[in-house]
Amino acid sequence: MYRTHTCGELRIENKGQAVTLAGWVQTIRKFGSITFVDLRDRYGITQLLFRENMNQALDENPIGREFVLQVSGAVSERSNKNPDIITGDIEIDVSKYTVLNPSKTPPFTIQDDTDGGDDLRMRYRYLDLRRNAVKKNLELRYRINRIVRNYLDSHGFMDIETPFLIKSTPEGARDFVVPSRMNPGQFYALPQSPQTLKQLLMVSGYDRYYQIVKCFRDEDLRADRQPEFTQIDCEMSFVEQEDILHIFEGMIKEVLKEVKGIEDINPFPRMSWHDAMRDYGNDKPDIRFGMKLVNLEKAAKGKGFKVFDEAELVVAIAVEGCGNYSRKQLDELTDWVKRPQIGMQGLAYVKSHTDHTYKSSFDKFFNEAQLNDIASACGAKPGDLILIMAGKEAKTRKAMSELRLEMGNRLGLRKKEEFKALWVTDFPLFEYSEEDGRWMALHHPFTSPKKEQVALMSQPEHFGEIKANAYDMVLNGNEIGGGSIRIFQKELQEKMFSALGMSREEAQEKFGFLMGAFEYGAPPHGGIAFGFDRLCAILGGSESIRDFIAFPKNNAGRDMMLDAPDQIDNKQLEELQITIVKE
Ligand code: ASP
Repeated sequence: MYRTHTCGELRIENKGQAVTLAGWVQTIRKFGSITFVDLRDRYGITQLLFRENMNQALDENPIGREFVLQVSGAVSERSNKNPDIITGDIEIDVSKYTVLNPSKTPPFTIQDDTDGGDDLRMRYRYLDLRRNAVKKNLELRYRINRIVRNYLDSHGFMDIETPFLIKSTPEGARDFVVPSRMNPGQFYALPQSPQTLKQLLMVSGYDRYYQIVKCFRDEDLRADRQPEFTQIDCEMSFVEQEDILHIFEGMIKEVLKEVKGIEDINPFPRMSWHDAMRDYGNDKPDIRFGMKLVNLEKAAKGKGFKVFDEAELVVAIAVEGCGNYSRKQLDELTDWVKRPQIGMQGLAYVKSHTDHTYKSSFDKFFNEAQLNDIASACGAKPGDLILIMAGKEAKTRKAMSELRLEMGNRLGLRKKEEFKALWVTDFPLFEYSEEDGRWMALHHPFTSPKKEQVALMSQPEHFGEIKANAYDMVLNGNEIGGGSIRIFQKELQEKMFSALGMSREEAQEKFGFLMGAFEYGAPPHGGIAFGFDRLCAILGGSESIRDFIAFPKNNAGRDMMLDAPDQIDNKQLEELQITIVKE
């Protein structure tokens, strides 16, 4: 037996007991003739006391940081108790120890605030994972996993695995592909999600499916994305949108209750995509705070100020209590909106003073009454600051949405421990891509249009008006889940592919299997998928999903530890009949 107890287990009640522990050396502290060692394992830290009689053994068989030890001795009461750790009342009076394995000096210290930079920690991720901070994240991830599985299991969902070597499933990203040795010149695609497979399971009658599953998307890794990530993927048959929202709202509430102790959560608010865009400037509004966007079309235009008059959109937010912002603060905000990421030309403002007067950046063109009109349009009170942007519609709205979030951050309105979820519904079915010169599916091509708008599917001039049976769950300004009621009839699916610019032949070649299945009694169905990594990160109070993945990749898609991707040898290439062409 390697150990009788773990390093997190012994208490004062165990005093006098003979025990054996095994673990890693966290620290070594010498005081005159005695030595204290902190021994660490997954469960905690226990202090070891090496008395003078052990010194000869320590000389002959020295120990160092991260050595793996097996230690026997008696549990004794510490004279100097440490209330910060669970084993802080006791220590082990060591009578015997064995070095099970020595360790090189680790490249960074294994403690909460480590001295290791990101790259170093990723290269030695197996050491990084020994750190308490990272371990806590993985434990949280596992807990959420259990809660989700239990919830879905108790609601009759069945976990069914789907293959990774498949044909392309369009989720709006590039596929990762895998060459097939047995079928030279042919490639599998790794699933961007199990979308079509879960729909086929519905055709097969497995009316409640789920899987906590890896998805692969070859995207440019903007901040905090991973080429492989995990979804809680679900699908149900014989359901309408309302059934799905109900079940999965219940699932997230269960998670919030178990993990955060939040009970009695009201039904999640519903917001149409249109309203979200209008009021928050994006489709994943952070509703922990107000500061809604206000369209100043009426109040700002026609006063001779060109910047407003010539803009497609003039939009404002009222920032509570900031009417006393200094010139310097306003200049700094203006610089912020001019940064390339935001890309605006400038920022206009109206300061609403507590004495009911106004000061604006465009005083030349507006009198006091007109500034008052702007203030009342924005619902601003004396003492508030109104920030205004003008320009091209989409860009200006997006920029204002970013500024709103920034002001929310600066004013501490986006509290980590406050959780506010909502459903965003009624997304457009299509969005026009200027780049590709065609309509694209906003969600994915298996999403159904609203029943009453099906006729518009043959009228391209109306594509922009068609709404989808699609929904997203948003938590604290993050899209944590999204799904739709699917198309389940071959004819409509064909229409969809044709609307997306696919020829009949192309649609048949790519998705013949799905449309074929639809001819054998496909039930009405719909589903949703949650970004599991993101959900964990939000609940763990972190910005970064990487912290919640055991072996993540860096921003260049590299695994620093495995040094992947990597070249393969010529023999492998030959077997695959692949030639690398060097530029
Ligand atoms: N497959 C979709 C996605 O990955 C989710 C769904 O529609 O169920 O976003």
